[in-house]
Amino acid sequence: MHKNRTPELHSGGPERLSGGEIPDWYSEGVPHVWLPYTQMQTTPDPLPVVGADGVRLELADGRRLIDGIASWWTACHGYNHPRLKEKMKAQIDRLSHVMLGGLVHEEAARLAKRLADLLPGDLNHVFFSESGSVSVEIALKMAVQFWLNQGVTGRTRFVGFKAGYHGDTSATMAVGDSDGGMHKAFGDYLQQQHIVKLPENPTELEAFSVFLKDHRDGIAGVIMEPLIQGAGGMKFHGPEILRGIHEACREADVLLILDEIFTGFGRTGTMFACEQAGVVPDIICLGKALTAGMVAMAATVAGERVYGAFLSEEADKAFMHGPTYMANPLACAAANASLDIFEEEDVLGQVKKIEGHLTQSLAQFLDRPDVVDVRVKGAVGVIQMKKITDPVAMRQEFVKEGVWIRPLGDVIYLTPAFTMQPRDIASLTEAIDTVLQRMQG
Ligand SMILES: *Cc1c(COP(=O)(O)O)cnc(C)c1O
Repeated sequence: MHKNRTPELHSGGPERLSGGEIPDWYSEGVPHVWLPYTQMQTTPDPLPVVGADGVRLELADGRRLIDGIASWWTACHGYNHPRLKEKMKAQIDRLSHVMLGGLVHEEAARLAKRLADLLPGDLNHVFFSESGSVSVEIALKMAVQFWLNQGVTGRTRFVGFKAGYHGDTSATMAVGDSDGGMHKAFGDYLQQQHIVKLPENPTELEAFSVFLKDHRDGIAGVIMEPLIQGAGGMKFHGPEILRGIHEACREADVLLILDEIFTGFGRTGTMFACEQAGVVPDIICLGKALTAGMVAMAATVAGERVYGAFLSEEADKAFMHGPTYMANPLACAAANASLDIFEEEDVLGQVKKIEGHLTQSLAQFLDRPDVVDVRVKGAVGVIQMKKITDPVAMRQEFVKEGVWIRPLGDVIYLTPAFTMQPRDIASLTEAIDTVLQRMQG
């Protein structure tokens, strides 16, 4: 054990990890870990996490941080939840993995049925995968083949929205906001899709409807994040906008794909965001909180019309896709355990309470001249700043205050576990107040 040794990750960087014990695994291994969305030359050292419990992360030097993000909003019941762990431990002794090509297992069957029962309308056919981006890729491929299987050619394009985010793989980047988003430089490489402004009122909805009808012969589907556009800036829209877009899709006979990877499983106050608009999409994508942050899994769920177009005597009308680890039993067990918690505890009631606490405690920031907007929906709280000059430096200031908050563009957001107590929400907002006063004056 090298005590108090500062790891040499790179030549520069605003701040070194210091104090406490730096474990061997850190100094030896971390220089080989390429981090996400990170300039590796200038990044501050990543914080070594050795444990997590409830809403707290434990660092190697013994510090504890209140987690305002819940690991990209996956850990909805908090970390180290005994029910999730028990179910996974029991499953690992029975069957940790088996391929789904010609085989099936109990946890997958139970989970598929439960998702079909929970989802609105006729979203009954569950295609499992291992990440959100892949579940979106699957939805896009499904939509294209839906038309081809019926002898309709040329409908291969998609309509996505500005500030939309659907993943980091090539097809998902292309349906997201590549101009305003983080995939700007890839324009020439990506497939050209229609990325349009999200309608904000009846007039714009009408124009959108006309646009869709004019282009329908080339369009397979429309893809959007319902009610909250997450990683593209935590932007909100009302259920009437979602309803209007659904209506436009109906009229033009274009498929509607809802990406609920961010919004699904209670985050916006209902189990799925689309319920608030009474909208049933043709295809829905689920991920992130599906396993309550325990392990990677996603799902693409199709309605009867889409599924029906793949049924045929002809083998090549089958959906040709099959992630190696699809429906992994450990992941299915975690997801089933999470759904048990949703069934037995008043989780949506917890979300409602958090919504109230966030609304109350974030309102104070509206008085600040550098704050443009404060908004709350379900367990999502957003402070829209005029500008955050250095989000990475701000993240470090939050750590000094004992909280884990990761600013995104010009936004400071909270997506806590649904188990977070009012005093911890208060600590998060106090930390934000302190850091804003220190950094922005
Ligand atoms: C996170 C996210 C994705 C991508 O999921 P990964 O598991 O990171 O591939 C896609 N869509 C939305 C709305 C997301 O929030």
